[in-house]
Amino acid sequence: MQTHPTVVIGAGPYGLSVAAHLNAARLPTLVFGKPMEFWQGMPHGMKLRSAWSASSLSAPGGAYNLDSYRTAIGAPQQLPIPLPFFIDYGLWFQRNAVPDLDPTYVESVTVDGGGFRVGLVDGRTVSAGRVVVAAGIDRYAHVPGFASRLPESVASHTRAHHDFGLFRGATVAVVGGGQSAIESAALLHEAGAQVELIARGPIRWLKLHDYRGPGRRLLYAPSDVGPPGLNWLLHFPLVFRRFPVRTRKAITRRAVRPAGARWLIDRVVGQVRITTQTEVLRATHEPKGVCLQLSDGSTRLVDHLFLATGYRPNVQKLPFIPPSLAGRVRQRDGFPVLDRWLESSVRGLHFVGGLADHSYGPICRFVSGADVAARQVTASAARTPAR
Ligand SMILES: Cc1cc2nc3c(=O)[nH]c(=O)nc-3n(C[C@H](O)[C@H](O)[C@H](O)COP(=O)(O)OP(=O)(O)OC[C@H]3O[C@@H](n4cnc5c(N)ncnc54)[C@H](O)[C@@H]3O)c2cc1C
Repeated sequence: MQTHPTVVIGAGPYGLSVAAHLNAARLPTLVFGKPMEFWQGMPHGMKLRSAWSASSLSAPGGAYNLDSYRTAIGAPQQLPIPLPFFIDYGLWFQRNAVPDLDPTYVESVTVDGGGFRVGLVDGRTVSAGRVVVAAGIDRYAHVPGFASRLPESVASHTRAHHDFGLFRGATVAVVGGGQSAIESAALLHEAGAQVELIARGPIRWLKLHDYRGPGRRLLYAPSDVGPPGLNWLLHFPLVFRRFPVRTRKAITRRAVRPAGARWLIDRVVGQVRITTQTEVLRATHEPKGVCLQLSDGSTRLVDHLFLATGYRPNVQKLPFIPPSLAGRVRQRDGFPVLDRWLESSVRGLHFVGGLADHSYGPICRFVSGADVAARQVTASAARTPAR
């Protein structure tokens, strides 16, 4: 008999999916965090890159998926999925599958006997037999060295922006070549900014990705991560995790290499200046803005530098896990090394979402990986006697 509950930290797609499965299995569960909070900070006007089949949260039997939501509210399928629709869906999922959520933040997790003690920011503490870290990647926004000394008023990670209308009339350089960079460039341009997109490599487009014909299932697994040929492998992370580390890294690099959705082409090409195969070498704060020195020898003076430079998850940087506990988590490149149950080397401590990427593959960076994560964690909680 489980004496202490499983505590789930975070109420994004992963935390909510894990909690939905634990609840359905009638395992005592406490979930902390504000539902869909990370998504609520994403840019106005953004659309999801992931396909409809890859954007449902997970509950047993496919309950509360996007199709049920669409039916419940009587809305047509919208593609690409608009951000507000997805946020509303996530909140609806929470109300139905995880109604007993507590929006308080977790402040600390410490080992307590055979289990854990979880401290909340309001001073309460709870005992947990198991802890599932589903805290997302928000805190890992990567600021490259050339921008690290610039004030946020002139250089900021895309993560910091919700309302691009603030940049109307400004000159903005967007650094990066992935979906976030390209969509930010489109949204900034549409908001009235004068935009240049600067990418280290080429700008690639996912031209096949929108194909909805009869061969779709051969080309793309429902989880929709990676190019044709690789995505069916990534769809099965329990198989993928058995590959040697070097192979996994090579596949991951290819699977998530920077690229933009096809529906962005017309909104960017011919609309904003695009400079490819060019790196920013230096960026200096000057009275009239930010001066960029580029690897092709040219310079730019812009009002604002947008850094669409990704996220670098690192288990050591979780503020609620003290160094003494983080040090006991076996790691590789900052990622916890996880077993098939997404359990770390600290018994009862699981990681889902972006932090599971090293063990479970790039599917963990996307909503579609929440299904397998939720099933595995729940199976582990059901089979292992808790403390
Ligand atoms: C611009 C952008 C676009 C994206 N588009 C897509 C897309 O189209 N499709 C897709 O599949 N993925 C997309 N992603 C990736 C997406 O972020 C992940 O798929 C998804 O958010 C992962 O869910 P999660 O639950 O792990 O993390 P999150 O959604 O980040 O949820 C984690 C939650 O934990 C909470 N939390 C953190 N610390 C604590 C604490 N101490 N106590 C309590 N709660 C805490 C946070 O508030 C947050 O709400 C996109 C990412 C970005 C940045």
